[in-house]
Amino acid sequence: MDIHLLKSVTKLFSKKRKIILIPHSSPDADAIGSCLALYHFFKSNNEVNIISPNEYTDILNFLPGSRNILIYENDKLICENVFKKSDVIFTLDFNTLGRAKNLSSLISNSNAKTIMIDHHENPDKYADITISNSKMSSTCEMVYDFICLINKSKIDNKIATCIYTGIVADTGSFRFPSTTSKTLKVGSELINYGVNVTKIFEKLHNNFQFDRLKLLGSTINNFKKIDGLPVVYTSITDNDQKINNFKKGDSEGFVNFGLSVTDILCSVLFIEKKDEGLIKISFRSRGDFKVNIFASKYFNGGGHKYASGGISNLSLKETEKKFISDITQYINQNYE
Ligand code: AMP
Repeated sequence: MDIHLLKSVTKLFSKKRKIILIPHSSPDADAIGSCLALYHFFKSNNEVNIISPNEYTDILNFLPGSRNILIYENDKLICENVFKKSDVIFTLDFNTLGRAKNLSSLISNSNAKTIMIDHHENPDKYADITISNSKMSSTCEMVYDFICLINKSKIDNKIATCIYTGIVADTGSFRFPSTTSKTLKVGSELINYGVNVTKIFEKLHNNFQFDRLKLLGSTINNFKKIDGLPVVYTSITDNDQKINNFKKGDSEGFVNFGLSVTDILCSVLFIEKKDEGLIKISFRSRGDFKVNIFASKYFNGGGHKYASGGISNLSLKETEKKFISDITQYINQNYE
């Protein structure tokens, strides 16, 4: 953060504020971890609320303070009243208002000062204060830096646990290319606040229902390889979800299995979302293949170089057909 930014942030919080912390829709551990870390940081001197656009995986309910998260989809009136009174809004782990879904108009129509903290590429210019760095491993790592600049002495076990969880989740436990020596240093500093590393690993990775194991099995079994291309894809149909009691977060990490195959550079997962009338797509890649450009060009999406998402309004079959044709064209045009 440059000195001018720091001055304006310090001035903003020199008096009691009514703060709202907002993650992107269907928030993951990095988004929820960022919100909760800032919730604990600000709550002693300010009035703080976390409002998520919709539900998130109950796997994250072990995080301290998660009981205080309001869900807009479930409590519209309460959340709208909180908006009316707020004077500072943080948008966390997203950089385009569309990713706040049903909250985007409430954010853009609010008179509150908006602060974006985010690590995705190409931020939109909606915030009064934009703290954006796509080289960072996670928004939680940025929240750690933000807190250190304002008042490091307030970091405690709760704040450290929330930040550590977000970093671990977004870096695949410090393995993805976004992990730097500084990320590891931050992880090491957080452990000094008594973060329980094993408990967090267990909560994030060994905390599922048996149905989820069966869903993983069928998703892996469904993988197909495109002839002549270093690309694999798989899908989860509405029926797969029904027979395995699918819950939010159950498919987290499934797409990565495609990259366990030697020479595969891109792995894709299509999930049929009957209630939303669309297909949600997860893209993962490695090496020279930067999948965010493909996701935004062909599937109305975006994200990171090696981890992106998108959507399709076609049926699952048509989406797969379009994908095979688009990716063949894209690779032929750009990589051969
Ligand atoms: P996911 O596959 O859902 O885990 O998403 C991977 C990354 O892609 C996330 O970190 C998001 O930043 C980004 N992303 C997912 N869905 C979208 C979307 N519809 N539009 C833009 N970015 C997305």
